[in-house]
Amino acid sequence: MPIPIPNPTRLRHVAVIGAGAGGLAAARELRREGHTVVVFERENNIGGTWVYDPRTESDPLGPDPTRNIVHGSLYASLRTNLPREVMGYRDYPFVASTRPGRDPRRYPGHKEVMEYLNDYATEFGLGELVRFETEVLEVGIVENGKWKVKYGKNGKVDDEVYDAVVVCNGHYTEPRIADIPGIDSWPGKQIHSHNYRVPDPYRNQVVIMIGSAASAVDISRDVSTVAKEVHIASRSYNNGASKLPGHNNIWLHPMIESVREEGSVTFQDGSEVRASIILHCTGYKYHFPFLKTNNIVTVDDNRVGPLYKHIFPPTLAPWLSFVGLPWKVVPFPLFEYQSKWIAGALSGKFSLPSPEEMMKDVENFYSSMETAGIPKRYTHNLASCQYEYNDWVAAECKSAPSEEWRKEMYVSASKSKIVRPETYRDEWDDEHLIMQAHEDFNKNFKVAKNLIKG
Ligand SMILES: Cc1cc2nc3c(=O)[nH]c(=O)nc-3n(C[C@H](O)[C@H](O)[C@H](O)COP(=O)(O)OP(=O)(O)OC[C@H]3O[C@@H](n4cnc5c(N)ncnc54)[C@H](O)[C@@H]3O)c2cc1C
Repeated sequence: MPIPIPNPTRLRHVAVIGAGAGGLAAARELRREGHTVVVFERENNIGGTWVYDPRTESDPLGPDPTRNIVHGSLYASLRTNLPREVMGYRDYPFVASTRPGRDPRRYPGHKEVMEYLNDYATEFGLGELVRFETEVLEVGIVENGKWKVKYGKNGKVDDEVYDAVVVCNGHYTEPRIADIPGIDSWPGKQIHSHNYRVPDPYRNQVVIMIGSAASAVDISRDVSTVAKEVHIASRSYNNGASKLPGHNNIWLHPMIESVREEGSVTFQDGSEVRASIILHCTGYKYHFPFLKTNNIVTVDDNRVGPLYKHIFPPTLAPWLSFVGLPWKVVPFPLFEYQSKWIAGALSGKFSLPSPEEMMKDVENFYSSMETAGIPKRYTHNLASCQYEYNDWVAAECKSAPSEEWRKEMYVSASKSKIVRPETYRDEWDDEHLIMQAHEDFNKNFKVAKNLIKG
């Protein structure tokens, strides 16, 4: 039977920026919809964040705009903070591989995620769409509503015109650092977790760590294996200094009040420590140095906007879109939903509201945040509503909502992390959900295979 040819006027030539987990999902969905796709990737491999890079940047804190940029933020010991069943793409299960050298653990090391992304790319023939070692330098609108993508490769700069651009450049490369009174005269070293790889440089040191998110928890344990003392300063601890149960050399403190030139660090409860290193585990900034939209899209206090549902700038939709901005979420399934919606919006299969309606929706969202006293920098934090968001996007692109087992497993994994913070990667009590996940994977995997063959 001949393959039906889709309406050619609805097929677009699309540039995707980045070949991480987001860019790969975008490339797959765009091509499935019939668009032609070029993926621009600065590095020489697939996987983005999940490609471990032992190099660090010349400015360990990050504010120097002329520093050498290293994309990755992985540390050598990193294991996923989500079970693989929850973490994987919906229609390409992240199941343990029996191949030699693979890591079958439920919370595998970082290399296993990179291998999985390479398997995904191979399975769906995505590698052939990627132009490696090709950095996007500038993306701007040209007069006929198309987009000029200027890129550099091997020292040569060139440009090409596309109907649409999907931005998937990741948001864990540009460090955010804490403001510390007195820091200019403090004599110690400072580093951001973006530049943390291994504990050795911290041997016998007294280290202050700022932050309490997943990487702060991991890095504090890593550093404590060689450091003399580790002091964690965090907004989450308000009860004065205390030793972390089960650890001889890790203390918890409230935030830093100030630091002084003789090397002391004073916390908000009045306790004081003399330290030699401050490690900022304080998160990252959205950064799109290549994007030239005449200020239609801006980043203000880490709010990328205006964006309809964290994806489309209302007046440029669907020709410019962003995959993967939401954080504190399980990213891979979110990438799939967002990408499906973008691909269908570009082909005309799904219609978006008018620019005015989208803008109104964005304004309502911003004012609801303001009324609730939520700062701008939390605009893309979907921690409390990621599955509502996913299911809403799923409905827009006529896809099945998130699986019930995935939602339950996410809740169960989050609880487990609180109950057994040191061992949650190796102990759990949701075996029944793992069985449900595998039943579902078998079903979905067949669907995926049929799609490839079809
Ligand atoms: C330390 C750490 C631990 C994490 N742990 C987990 C976890 O356990 N589980 C989980 O699900 N998620 C985790 N994440 C989140 C992780 O970022 C996502 O899983 C996912 O990899 C993000 O994919 P992405 O495609 O959005 O971005 P990235 O993976 O960052 O990919 C972006 C790509 O864009 C390329 N690029 C950037 N700028 C340009 C340019 N100008 N031109 C061309 N190419 C460009 C980059 O080289 C890169 O390949 C973690 C993140 C970090 C930093």
